[in-house]
Amino acid sequence: MPESAARPDSHQKLPVAVIGAGFSGTVAAIQLLAHLPPDYPVLLCERAERFGRGRAYDTGNPDHLLNVRAANMSAFPDRPGHFEDWLAGAEPDAGVRRTPAGTFAARGLYGRYLGELLAGAVTAGGVPRLHLVNEAITDARPGPGGLVLTSEGGRRHAVAGAVLAMGNLAAPGGLESRHRVDPWRPEGLGRLHPHRPVLVVGTGLSMVDAVLTLRRQGFSGQVVALSRRGLVPAVHAPAGTWPRPDLAPEAASLTRLLAGIRREVAAAEAAGVGWHGVIDALRPATDALWLRLPPPERARFLRHLRPYWDVHRHRAAPPAGAAIAAEIAEGSLVVRAARLLGIEDRPDEARVTLRPRGGAAAEVLDVQCILDARGVGQIAGTGDPLLRGLFDRGLARPGPFGIGLDVGADLAVRGDGSARLWTLGPLARGALWESVAVPDIRNQAAALARIVAAALRPQPVPAYAAVRPVKAACPAISDPDRASAMSPRVSSTP
Ligand SMILES: Cc1cc2nc3c(=O)[nH]c(=O)nc-3n(C[C@H](O)[C@H](O)[C@H](O)COP(=O)(O)OP(=O)(O)OC[C@H]3O[C@@H](n4cnc5c(N)ncnc54)[C@H](O)[C@@H]3O)c2cc1C
Repeated sequence: MPESAARPDSHQKLPVAVIGAGFSGTVAAIQLLAHLPPDYPVLLCERAERFGRGRAYDTGNPDHLLNVRAANMSAFPDRPGHFEDWLAGAEPDAGVRRTPAGTFAARGLYGRYLGELLAGAVTAGGVPRLHLVNEAITDARPGPGGLVLTSEGGRRHAVAGAVLAMGNLAAPGGLESRHRVDPWRPEGLGRLHPHRPVLVVGTGLSMVDAVLTLRRQGFSGQVVALSRRGLVPAVHAPAGTWPRPDLAPEAASLTRLLAGIRREVAAAEAAGVGWHGVIDALRPATDALWLRLPPPERARFLRHLRPYWDVHRHRAAPPAGAAIAAEIAEGSLVVRAARLLGIEDRPDEARVTLRPRGGAAAEVLDVQCILDARGVGQIAGTGDPLLRGLFDRGLARPGPFGIGLDVGADLAVRGDGSARLWTLGPLARGALWESVAVPDIRNQAAALARIVAAALRPQPVPAYAAVRPVKAACPAISDPDRASAMSPRVSSTP
């Protein structure tokens, strides 16, 4: 078996692997370097060409803006101004939009920030401790000293444990058409006819991106965007701040919780603070509220309320929001509340059948291509070989409601307990609801590094010795106090 490149000298322990180098994996690796004893190397594995970008920040389109204010995009919870300071030192104003609601940078610029942080971590210190593996990891099994990872190219890496940071899963299936185009690869759009419509499936922030991509590619024709409810993301506004409401007593039922939020919004508005302030104030408490909600109420939330929550919680940067509002006003973007019933491929177009919300009659729409902007898929149906293998071997399992992995409040992946596996970011979303954006993930990364360091410390394992199954403290995810003990140490407002 070819030995991992990350075992440069025999005094070093087996490395801790981080699989995926988007935002989650990049900051997890940096935090691990800071918290692990110095003889533990870190192996950062990424299948894409570029490290430190992930799905969100690997875009060269300057219209793709961060949907969180620059003031809240630091990679470090204990240095809140870190990204803003970096921005001030980057090319002045390149890709930076200043608005009354705050400063919003281009996402590609943020990718550059992460790339520079990573480059600094690779070269820091005398003996290199951060090793980059530019391959997909396709398998992980218990092995001597912890785990053995296998990469796409067949290389094997013996590691003490692994952090799964594979982030946003591929979109769900059910949109098969040869006219379907990946909105994240605009080069696949080809030459579009200006007088034939394009369909975007999904009306959230990914739809906003898709429309901006189409326009940047020179398409001037009509875009039709559809989703079941046809809700478009709200836009950041210069709202005032509002104290964090204590809604824990209301979280026994979704109806009471919703009434509590409405009460807070009314009180805030009476005091001249918009609803945005209340939603932002709730952010640090959301995980604990999510865990307090009884599972049937969480299921109700996912069935009925989630789209409404998402458009208020995940808001567009003002320039992007203004562009979309102008398109809707002019009719160049038509947003439909409708269900997609079927797609029939024709030589030059796709014939799409849809049923408008509340309407009985189906409609037919001929479009020249379809952009899939539905967001992420369910984990149980994932085709990812690494996850499938972990599920098949019982080392991991899908989380509640099929959203992400089953995860303890200590971010340990729940399975049969025979593997040291942790996760963070979107893969932890079923357990910790606020787990998709930078302000939350950076807190998780800092906490995770301390958790991993503590898990490795009590049982130092000599290199290549057989490791005993680790029983990391793994509290029930229904324990909100443990969850909040892990979560934000600094305030986080979007
Ligand atoms: C388009 C978009 C825009 C967003 N904008 C913002 C924003 O402005 N602000 C904000 O706070 N949040 C934003 N988000 C939320 C975003 O989820 C987080 O900010 C963050 O980027 C999540 O990072 P991640 O590393 O967990 O996931 P991802 O970005 O999905 O990265 C996962 C990485 O893992 C790699 N990978 C997957 N499987 C393997 C494997 N088997 N082996 C090796 N590598 C693997 C992938 O190639 C990828 O690079 C946005 C999300 C999207 C999709």
